[in-house]
Amino acid sequence: MNSRHLNCDAVIKRVIDHLERTPGVPLDAETEKHLKACADCHSRAEIERRIRIGTGKLNCEEVIELLFDYLDQEISHPLSTHIERHLETCRDCFSRAEFEKRLRARVRESAEVQAPERLKLRIKSLIEKF
Ligand SMILES: [Zn+2]
Ligand SMILES: [Zn+2]
Repeated sequence: MNSRHLNCDAVIKRVIDHLERTPGVPLDAETEKHLKACADCHSRAEIERRIRIGTGKLNCEEVIELLFDYLDQEISHPLSTHIERHLETCRDCFSRAEFEKRLRARVRESAEVQAPERLKLRIKSLIEKF
């Protein structure tokens, strides 16, 4: 599109900022436009809105969708709290999160020891089994 197109990180930041500071007024046109065009940001904005309005918990699909960002610590309070709460009560998502965490730890380890081919293959077969 054009070069002034907002990137997704900036949009999410704006949405959160807006929800926290000026929830009563409409979003600015540029952000609104991005949300209409970008399905990822749209669903993320919906989740951010919902947890603040307090009408409902996250469902498994949403938690899984957010899991990578959550593990990368790219999700801020209060959404991270909602994810944690879900993981405490949902066995499926909890084990999925644990699996991802372990996988990440292994990838990190393997990067530290110059990523031996064997370990990479083991991770690959782990993913395939899952
Ligand atoms: Zn986006
Ligand atoms: Zn779940």
